[in-house]
Amino acid sequence: MSAKIKAIGLISGGLDSMLAARLMLDQGIDIIGVNFNTGFCLTDHKRQIRKNSADKTRLQNEALQAGAKLEFPVEIIDISEEYWQVLTKPKYGYGKNINPCIDCRIKMFSRAKEFMIENDAQFIFTGEVVGQRPMTQHKQTQELIAKKSGLEGLLLRPLSARNLPPTIPELKGWVDRDKLKAFYGRTRKPQINLAQELNVIEYPQPAGGCCFLTDESYAKRMRDMFRHNMDLDSIPRDEVILLKVGRHFRIGEKAKLIVGRNEGENNFLERYKKGKISLEVRDYGSPVALADANLSEYETMLAASITARYSDCPPGKEAIVQIEKDGTVNELDVLPAVPEDIETMRV
Ligand code: SF4
Repeated sequence: MSAKIKAIGLISGGLDSMLAARLMLDQGIDIIGVNFNTGFCLTDHKRQIRKNSADKTRLQNEALQAGAKLEFPVEIIDISEEYWQVLTKPKYGYGKNINPCIDCRIKMFSRAKEFMIENDAQFIFTGEVVGQRPMTQHKQTQELIAKKSGLEGLLLRPLSARNLPPTIPELKGWVDRDKLKAFYGRTRKPQINLAQELNVIEYPQPAGGCCFLTDESYAKRMRDMFRHNMDLDSIPRDEVILLKVGRHFRIGEKAKLIVGRNEGENNFLERYKKGKISLEVRDYGSPVALADANLSEYETMLAASITARYSDCPPGKEAIVQIEKDGTVNELDVLPAVPEDIETMRV
């Protein structure tokens, strides 16, 4: 008896990757899911914030949940360290925001290919649909990504396969092409109908992107960071993590202030105090604010005044701001900033 065919699926946990996995399982293919942690995944970040807040609703990794529902193993692969080069020097440029989607897919597929070889699998599949996303899901781009990741002919897109040239798994008869789909474009209807047909009833609703890099305001902060750092490779990773949290103000050429927006963010910021200045308003409900350690006198006043603006201190009333640096606390009396005066500093 011939050995069972094995495939590696790129699983986000969304409906498309679940349906692709289900189509493979229904053809008797043995599958292992992989999910890549780039460090920019929205649900990972939400999980971190919730861990630090009163909201204890469980938010599990969606890829793991999908694997558990459809009964196949899913491995999470951390590529966050090497991903920085992809993000700062994308060969194929950025999408609408700071999303280097083509380079990102090449990176993921190249790593998935290694995983395929390590696990004696024969091919890779994804839930991609041709024409669904502007940057990576056009035919030519898909061909480019497959070529650059060394997966030509071995990358199967079960939801769009009949719109694409036959792949090796189809030509060799490992999968039956006639049972694959020919979905095209942005409409979700065919996927929803297929989910009903296959009785895939629980799946996450599309949340407008899974990745911070497609978020307009996050992209603005990242570009601001790139502009103010000559050497992108030397940017501490903590600074990148902090871009996801709070309100950001550029208060000087080399100085930035981050002000927490809620309890979860305040607790999150507390963990990043080391090597920074932290600010809190005394005697009133106050956010936690963090700034770079080497502020000028003017920048310190400005940081204190902006922190006071987001505290419960009434406008026009003097606030006492406690400023902590290396375990030493000083106090500064300031008036809360006037919103219109600081709007231009918002990043
Ligand atoms: S949206 Fe984010 S995770 Fe998805 S391909 Fe683009 S950069 Fe990569």
